Amino acid sequence: MLDFEKLAELLFPHIKENPADIEARFPKRELPEGAKVTRFAPSPTGFVHFGGLFPTTVAERLAHQSNGVLYLRIEDTDAKREVPGAAEALIRTLATYGIDFDEGAILGDDGAICDKGAYGPYKQSLRGPIYQTYAKQLVREGKAYPCFTTEAELEELHSIDKKQEIKNTDWQAEAEARRAEMLARREITMDEVESNLRAGNPFVLRILADGDAEKKIKFTDLVKGNIEIPENDEDFVLLKSDGIPTYHFAHAVDDHLMGTTHVIRGEEWLPSLAKHLQLFRYLGFKTPKYMHIAQIMRLDEAGNKKKLSKRDMGANMDDYTRLGYCPEAVCEYVMTLLNSNYEEWRMQNPDKDYKEFPFNIKKMSSSGCLFDFNKLNDVSKNVISKMSADEVAKKVTAWNLTFDADFGGQLAADPEYTQRIFAIGRGGKKPRKDLTTWADAKAYMGFFFDSYFSVEDAYDEKYDRNDIKLTLCKFTKSLDLADDMNTWFDKIKAIGESLGYTSDMKAYKAAPESFKGSVADISMFIRVAVTGKLNSPDMYAVMQILGHERVCQRINSMLETL
Ligand code: GLU
Repeated sequence: MLDFEKLAELLFPHIKENPADIEARFPKRELPEGAKVTRFAPSPTGFVHFGGLFPTTVAERLAHQSNGVLYLRIEDTDAKREVPGAAEALIRTLATYGIDFDEGAILGDDGAICDKGAYGPYKQSLRGPIYQTYAKQLVREGKAYPCFTTEAELEELHSIDKKQEIKNTDWQAEAEARRAEMLARREITMDEVESNLRAGNPFVLRILADGDAEKKIKFTDLVKGNIEIPENDEDFVLLKSDGIPTYHFAHAVDDHLMGTTHVIRGEEWLPSLAKHLQLFRYLGFKTPKYMHIAQIMRLDEAGNKKKLSKRDMGANMDDYTRLGYCPEAVCEYVMTLLNSNYEEWRMQNPDKDYKEFPFNIKKMSSSGCLFDFNKLNDVSKNVISKMSADEVAKKVTAWNLTFDADFGGQLAADPEYTQRIFAIGRGGKKPRKDLTTWADAKAYMGFFFDSYFSVEDAYDEKYDRNDIKLTLCKFTKSLDLADDMNTWFDKIKAIGESLGYTSDMKAYKAAPESFKGSVADISMFIRVAVTGKLNSPDMYAVMQILGHERVCQRINSMLETL
C-alpha cells in the first residue's frame, strides 16, 4: 500500500496550495436564475470549421438568451499541434459570425490575446499549477498514480490506442495485453517512485479507474437524449510528463472552476464521456449538462452522406468570406439547420434579428445536419434582398475592395452612384432576389461602369435586323428621362405597335402567329443594347442611373454593329 500523502509530496513538491485555496479564487458566479454559462474551447490548431461554428452558435444563443455568460477558453495543451496566430484568427472569424464573447481570451486593442474576466487565465497552458493542485489532491486520495514512461513508450501506447480504434483482428488480444499492462503499472512501489524521481525520469499521472466496462451508465444528453455508455475502466492520462493536462483532465477542472453550466461540443467527444463523468465524481465536482452536437454531413457525388471534412468546400469559414457570402446569411443558414422550427418563425417574423428567435434545445436534431450550398444560396438571396440599398452598397464595395480591387475601386469612387445601383428593386414588398453573394455583383451590375460593359448576349437570329435597328433609332429619338415610367413605357409600346409588335400580351398569347412579336421583344432589343444582356434589373431604373448620354451612346454603338 502506497503512502498517498507522501507520494503526493514527492510528485508535486512545488504545489503548496490545496483545491480549497483555488476554489476560493474562483467563486461561484452570481447570475440570475436559469442563466446558462457556456463556452467555446478551441484548440488553436487551424481555421474555424463550419462544424465548429455550429456548437458555438448554440453556446452563444443559450448563454445570451438566458442572460448568462459565453466565454472563450483556448485549449492549447498540445504545443506540437499549435499553429501560431490561429487563436487570434479564430476570435476574429467568430466575431464576424455574431459570436461575441463576454469573457475569456479576447483580442486586445493591439491585436494580441488578453484575458477578460475573473476566471482566468483562459489559456490552458497558463493554468499548469491549477491542474497540478487538483492532481496532487487525487494522488493524496489514492485516485491517481504516476507512471514513469519515456516519450518513446508514450508514443507506442498512443499507437496502440490508434490500433484499437481501427479494430483489427487482434483487438481482443491487444485489449487483454493492455489491461495486464495497466494492472502491472498500478503495482508501482514507493521505492520505484523515489528512484525514478532521483534519476530525473519523467512521469505521466494516470487516473486509477474504478469502472467496469461491462457495466453501463445511464445518462441524459440534452441533444442525444437518454443514452447508455460503458463505465470507464481505463487508467487514462491526466497529466502529461510536462505537467500539462490532457483534454479530459483540463475539461473537468476548467469547466468546474469557470462555472460552465452547459458543455456544448462535437459528438466526437461522446466516447470520452464516461471518463469525464468519472473525473467529475473523483474531483467532487457537480457535473455540468452536456450537449453533444452531431457532425455536419454533406452529400457526395454519388448522393451518399459523408462527414463534412476539413478539406471540403464550405468547411473552412474563410471559404465563405472568399466566396463573398455575407456572414448574416451564413448565420441565418446555421439557424435553419439548428432548430427545426426556425424557418416557420422566420416566415412569421421576416424582419427580426435571428437572435430574437427563441432557441430551443428540444428542437435540435440529434443526428447529423446536412450541409447544402443550394439551401445556403436560397437563404442568402433572401437575407440580402431585405437589406437596404445603403447596406448592400457598402458591403459589396468593401468585399470587392479586398477581393476584386479594380471593381471595388470603381464602386468606391462614387458611393452615391453605387448606392443608386443597388437601390434598384430594393425596399418594396417584393424585393429583387438578385444577389446571392457579393461576388455576384460584378456580373450582374458591372454594366453600369463603362469599363465592364460589353455586349454579352446576342439577338436571336429569328429577329428581323431592320426591326431591331428601327426600334433602337426610334427609341433614342423619343427618349426623355424626365418621363415618368408609364410615359416612358408607352413610348416603347408605340414603337412596337408601329412595327407590328403588339403590346396586348393577352392577344399575343392567344395568337402569337398574328404578330411579329410583342412589346417584350421590343424591350429586349433595347435592353441588350443598353446593358449587354438579355436579363437585367428594371430598365427604367437602369436608364435613370446611366443617364441620357450614356444610354444613347450604347444604343448608337449597337446600331453600328447591326
Ligand atoms: N478543445 C476541444 C476541441 O477543440 C474542445 C472540446 C470541448 O468543447 O470541450 O475539440
